[in-house]
Amino acid sequence: MFAKLRKHVSVRHAVQILFAIVVVYIGLVFVLFIDQVTNNSFPVISRPAGVEAFLPISALVGLKAWLATGIFDSIHPAGLVIFLAAITVSALFKRAFCSWICPIGTLSEGLARIGKRLFGRNFLIPNWLDYLLRSVKYIILLFFFWAIFFGMSGADAAAFVQSPYNMVSDIKMLKFMQQLTGVGMTVIGLLLVCSILYENFWCRYFCPYGGLLGLLSVLSPFKIIRNQKSCIQCGKCTKSCPNHILVEQTNRVWSLECTGCLNCVHQCPVNETLSFKAPMGLPSLSLKNLAFSLLGIWAVLITIAKITGHWETNMTMEMYKRLLPLLDQIGH
Ligand code: SF4
Ligand code: SF4
Repeated sequence: MFAKLRKHVSVRHAVQILFAIVVVYIGLVFVLFIDQVTNNSFPVISRPAGVEAFLPISALVGLKAWLATGIFDSIHPAGLVIFLAAITVSALFKRAFCSWICPIGTLSEGLARIGKRLFGRNFLIPNWLDYLLRSVKYIILLFFFWAIFFGMSGADAAAFVQSPYNMVSDIKMLKFMQQLTGVGMTVIGLLLVCSILYENFWCRYFCPYGGLLGLLSVLSPFKIIRNQKSCIQCGKCTKSCPNHILVEQTNRVWSLECTGCLNCVHQCPVNETLSFKAPMGLPSLSLKNLAFSLLGIWAVLITIAKITGHWETNMTMEMYKRLLPLLDQIGH
């Protein structure tokens, strides 16, 4: 039974499941924490750091404030740490954050698998529309990047970090999800259906975070390398690529869409023909070594953040109790 299970759960899937469990756990504890504050009950549950992983814009403003003033975000420090970890991972191992760590990427992959079961395949968007749609995530990214790095001064960014709006942005996000409007439900429903029909629909076309990580992945020393001499042109690599990269037609994958999932390496029937390699004679990374590297980087950065006091928020229970009743007025 275990052998059968191992066959279906690759190392990457195991890492994805691990991160998904952590995210669900943090989400549930956060819901209980907010209930406790709302009901004014005796505080037994602390706010779980890490919930701000879902506040990438706050993290980007926090980064600007940090660069401009030297002061690290004390309201959502874990958000900035997670953002820096995602950047580090992408600058080293392509967009591995998307295919190994991000829970939205995991969900997206699961939905595409449902589509494959239902229809025997995922559908393809015509090339011209695919190119057009792929630019959307960069346009959204440019908008936020411009607004934060050019439209805001360092003092503005620091003021935003300490603003009541930013302080309760995690709670606002939770309430938004709990009280979804008809429009919100329609948009999410459409995205879910499209993700079943088209592989990586959200990540490929609309996720500005993925867009940013893709741009940074140019720096990655590790790339998928194909040995032209031993390749038998079977096309299995291209067929297995969730990002429609024509692996068998290139010797080195430069694409910003490569998420370092290593599906292609795993599927290649000829030993040592495809590898995830860095130059300068460094050994290629296997699935297991990549998993250890990603988990190692994550663990080291979070440990450093914890030791140096850059992980837990400095928001007190009293501050939450004071701000929570004003939630609807804050930001209007
Ligand atoms: S299958 Fe290969 S080329 Fe395609 S995204 Fe994964 S690692 Fe990159
Ligand atoms: S799967 Fe391997 S052998 Fe087949 S085309 Fe790709 S690189 Fe060549």
